[in-house]
Amino acid sequence: MATTQNKDYYATLGVKKTATPEEIRKAFRKAARKYHPDVNPGDKKSEEKFKEISEANDILSDEKKRKVYDQLGFYSDQIDPAQAEAYARQQSAGGQPPVDFGGFDFNGFGGSAAGPQAGAGSSTWGNFKDIFSGIFSGAHEAQRSSGPQPGADLEYQATVDFWTAIRGGQARLLIHRQEICPTCHGQAQTGGPMQCPECNGTGQVTQMGGRMKFNIPCPRCNGTGRVSNDCPTCHGEGTVNRTETVEFRIKPGTRDGQRIRLQGKGNAGLHGGAAGDLFVIVRTGTHPVFTRTGDDIHLTVPVTIAEASLGAKVDVPTIEGRAQLKIPPGTQSGQKLRMRERGVESASHPGQRGDQIVSIEVIVPHLQDERSREIMRELAKLNNQDPRVTLFDKL
Ligand SMILES: [Zn+2]
Ligand SMILES: [Zn+2]
Repeated sequence: MATTQNKDYYATLGVKKTATPEEIRKAFRKAARKYHPDVNPGDKKSEEKFKEISEANDILSDEKKRKVYDQLGFYSDQIDPAQAEAYARQQSAGGQPPVDFGGFDFNGFGGSAAGPQAGAGSSTWGNFKDIFSGIFSGAHEAQRSSGPQPGADLEYQATVDFWTAIRGGQARLLIHRQEICPTCHGQAQTGGPMQCPECNGTGQVTQMGGRMKFNIPCPRCNGTGRVSNDCPTCHGEGTVNRTETVEFRIKPGTRDGQRIRLQGKGNAGLHGGAAGDLFVIVRTGTHPVFTRTGDDIHLTVPVTIAEASLGAKVDVPTIEGRAQLKIPPGTQSGQKLRMRERGVESASHPGQRGDQIVSIEVIVPHLQDERSREIMRELAKLNNQDPRVTLFDKL
């Protein structure tokens, strides 16, 4: 057991605080005879009581442990008797000199706290942990590196319209980035150090640990009583947040999802560190007729029954205007025809172009007059193949 709760061990053993070791020994023997489990088999209350007096005896019969207990009101393996004494001296003197926790085993402390044994002294334990986490975060803050720190990269998405992505052009983007502070030029401080406002220059602050008061080195100034004079513009950050419009070039053939790197347009670095980069992920806009997949353009072209069955040359739109498409005789609805090199010029492979892929959609006419219906019936008689025959063959 590493720590005990705040218990009155003297009351447990029924002795005075001034009891001699001999008196304590006798009191324990007497109580132990009364509550020993062998004497009271199966009696839970006696068993508990026996544990309590054993614990009290363990602390009070040990000169060092008793000293810590007398001074702090509880006992922990982690506390050095000398420190407990220093704490007691400070309390009785009424002054508030700092307790030196230099000899503390922080690792053991935290490790045990997380372990199954933490339960017994959890309240005291928690308070201690709070104090130490406070010290740690403070110290961490003070040890903040003053060497060059590179600025962070930024990533933004920018949507450019369909045609700009294909033909190239300029794009604009509103970004938020950290820039070198114009007041302190990134130094974060103006002038020399000043008195620490947290501890008013004393270098110490008081923290509560359960019912105890501890004086610890001020986490803000790390116990020095002086802090740097933070720049009023950037509050000691060295950088300020700025909203900025950046303009950048879109290469012809830029694809959806492409990343553009704008060097040095990320956050500013600290203490002379290089600025980060800005990465723009390009999202390309859509078009009502053309659909783009990589460097290929897809579109659907409606044709008549006559064009599909007899074959025809029809005008279709491409990204560079009209072009002629040859519909072979017997073309089916849904069939895809490829128009080579009618797609987008590649951004990554100069001189290469994608294709235009045309999906044929056969439009069935609504026959309005008897003559047309007669011709259609005639046509059906002449071409009486069953288009569903293969469907049944596969069943
Ligand atoms: Zn500044
Ligand atoms: Zn301070």
